[in-house]
Amino acid sequence: MTPPVANQPRRRGTCPGVLAPMRVGDGFLLRVRVPADVLPAEHARCIAELGDRYGNGLIDLSHRGNLQLRGIPADALAPVTDALRKMGYVSDDAASEAVRNVLCTPTAGLDPTAAMDVRGVARTLDARLATDTGLHRLPPKFGWLVCGGGIGHLADSSTDVRFDAVDGKHFRVSLGGTLAKAAPLGLCRAEDVADVASALGRAFVELRASLPEPPRRMAGLVAVIGTEPFATRLSSLISPLPPGERIKVRGTHLMDLFGSAEPPHPNLLPRGEKGQAPTMVAAFPFGRLTCATLAALASVCAEIRITPWRALLLVAPSSDAEGIAKAHGAILSHTDRRLKLTACSGAGGCDVGTTDTHATALAIADRAGPLLDHVRMVHVSGCAKGCAHPAIADVTLTARDGVYDVALNAKPGDDSPHTGLSPADAVARVADLLTEESTGA
Ligand code: SF4
Repeated sequence: MTPPVANQPRRRGTCPGVLAPMRVGDGFLLRVRVPADVLPAEHARCIAELGDRYGNGLIDLSHRGNLQLRGIPADALAPVTDALRKMGYVSDDAASEAVRNVLCTPTAGLDPTAAMDVRGVARTLDARLATDTGLHRLPPKFGWLVCGGGIGHLADSSTDVRFDAVDGKHFRVSLGGTLAKAAPLGLCRAEDVADVASALGRAFVELRASLPEPPRRMAGLVAVIGTEPFATRLSSLISPLPPGERIKVRGTHLMDLFGSAEPPHPNLLPRGEKGQAPTMVAAFPFGRLTCATLAALASVCAEIRITPWRALLLVAPSSDAEGIAKAHGAILSHTDRRLKLTACSGAGGCDVGTTDTHATALAIADRAGPLLDHVRMVHVSGCAKGCAHPAIADVTLTARDGVYDVALNAKPGDDSPHTGLSPADAVARVADLLTEESTGA
């Protein structure tokens, strides 16, 4: 394997897995795809133990609702893979693992305001993707989403194919984007989701191949050919949407309620008549936690749901869960300013990075804490690739050769008026910029 050149963006389009470990700055990274994003506490403890015993003790939570074990040496790949396989998280081969990119509502089965408990549908879809070899030609990163609505809805998550529950039996199928932006295709029955996915995936592969420059994502293909070719192929599985249909997302969003009471509220979900299991959200700066933290959290709940918000949802937490989560550095309030910071692994975990992006971001929180209230996001990127957030942020720091370029309302790598700043100078510059922003200077 040719090692990446420092400070050069890694080639886009590759995704790690357990059977496709990715060599990064701190060893191999293994992405564990968890069906329906439901992790029994016992499995969480085992995974934490694996990361501690074989890896560097660090775990990342991805935006796609996956766990990523870090720092696994080459000679430990086999035992780690075997252990994960015994728990049911490893597919037959790398191709069948790579397509299992299914995001599921993290509050499924816990929330009486949801339209449907979609865990079963998400698991069925995950299994179909693994076994349907016709879908293994889908490009890397091609994703699916099964949303039951309610407090943990995924309306703002963007993906290639969406299944959004409209009632207890049907899904609205749409292509390429968030709930608001994806192109609607029609309605399908819950029991047909896997067949619809199979037909849609095959159609995508065939239709993109007919173009001179095949788009890699559904939104790109729909922008060129529209939805009609898909609707025609799926006419037996999909019924038309009602005229003027508008899907409603019921309930206040989980992340809006997250810790909204003081002290942080551990029971986010309304209790049903029979009493719903209470939950607790624990978020982590940059989605990074230690295996010790995961083990500790697993010891104070029955089950863990992996959210796409760099946070874990603890199901049925014990009375001491909040104290233990706090002691392990978890963020329990949505007002915590560290949630405004986004950073990739940087030099500590990526062989392309040349700066300690996490340290820089936390220094910004220290130096400019109150000023962060005036922005939505500050992004510290280890290079122009912008893995953590390729889009525009209010403030973006892009590293190159150990220094930063700092820009407002910019993507990583965009032209910047403040270039070549040492990490300390970059932090000071951000504080100045935020002061100017908040005072209108
Ligand atoms: S953005 Fe960060 S994680 Fe991605 S390649 Fe650059 S340094 Fe590595």
